[in-house]
Amino acid sequence: MPELPEVECLRRGLAHADLSSKVISSVWRSGLALRTGAFWRDERLHLLQRARTGSFERRGKFLLWRLTGEAGQDLAAVIHLGMTGRLTVCSPGTEPIAHTHVIVSLQGGPDLHYADARRFGGVHVDALDRLARVGPLANLGPEPLEPGFSAAQLESRGGRSRRAIRDVLLDQRVVAGLGNIYVSEALFRAGLPPIAPACELRPSAWARLCTAIDDVLRQGIRNGGTTLRDYRGAEGERGRNQNALAVYGRGGHPCPTCERTLRAYEHSGRSGVLCPRCQPARRRR
Ligand SMILES: [Zn+2]
Repeated sequence: MPELPEVECLRRGLAHADLSSKVISSVWRSGLALRTGAFWRDERLHLLQRARTGSFERRGKFLLWRLTGEAGQDLAAVIHLGMTGRLTVCSPGTEPIAHTHVIVSLQGGPDLHYADARRFGGVHVDALDRLARVGPLANLGPEPLEPGFSAAQLESRGGRSRRAIRDVLLDQRVVAGLGNIYVSEALFRAGLPPIAPACELRPSAWARLCTAIDDVLRQGIRNGGTTLRDYRGAEGERGRNQNALAVYGRGGHPCPTCERTLRAYEHSGRSGVLCPRCQPARRRR
């Protein structure tokens, strides 16, 4: 599933494609339902007609396309890639790939194609001020790559929870943008067992974790994102970060640090991988 680094790489690719200050001339929709939930079902794609395009921004795992509506109102299209979503810049007339569900055509080109085989992703257009109050953006936690993000902030938001630290980090209200890949990698780098209760971590562990989160996210962005199967950048390119992962998806392989065999585990219905030596369960944290 695309996480912060993948969405950020896509955003940068779209920004580079120079799609701003153009008028949207048409919107095509396949008619097949995308992401579930009332917010996503109410897509409001009609607001895109004749809108003027602005910049691409990112919040957590969400891509935001700023637009000015036909009547001059500030709008944004919120795009979530779900599991298999791809947003690609295409020259006009490009034959859409299989599972294309939305095509936005800009006057004078290019087109933007949204394809999504499993249809867990979605698009929703609304007034910018409403998006800050309603829907999934309203309750997002802080951005981990913003300058104000700190170990103390992370601890104050998640440190009282008895839940496993992995689950606390996956909670988008605690910190925005992390999913299974980068949480697994950050916990490995910080030397923390994924199922340790968050409330048992000491300040030094939060500090290591905060540094590790920053490191793994920046590495993911530098490597163009992680492509396990479906993720593609704005020009359809694959990421390279899958070659740099230490633990995620590597159960049964040797740990890159200590060479002990990495172990798959399951906790509260989610599976993961850890190194039993580098992430010991019994140790003062
Ligand atoms: Zn190890």
